[in-house]
Amino acid sequence: MNKLQKIIDTLSEEDLVKIKRDLVAGNVDRLINEKLNKISYGKLDNKKCPVCGGTITENNYSLEFGASYLRKRAYFDAVDCLEYFIYSKLKKHELKH
Ligand SMILES: [Zn+2]
Repeated sequence: MNKLQKIIDTLSEEDLVKIKRDLVAGNVDRLINEKLNKISYGKLDNKKCPVCGGTITENNYSLEFGASYLRKRAYFDAVDCLEYFIYSKLKKHELKH
């Protein structure tokens, strides 16, 4: 049995009717998105900008790079830092190849 089936099995008829209503109204999608956003924001806790050491907030810039099997994601607090990172780190790395 998959996880969703297990969760549904534990719910009462009343809960299921309410959830079905929320599903039709699009609330389930919204709630899941809110939860996913909270999780990804939680992962940013104590993260620092690799360029200036500034704190990474919800308003950040991120860059994904590296081979597809080894993706890396770096977070920056400002566009200037992102720009600096691209030119100083990635460009130098590219030139070596
Ligand atoms: Zn920075």
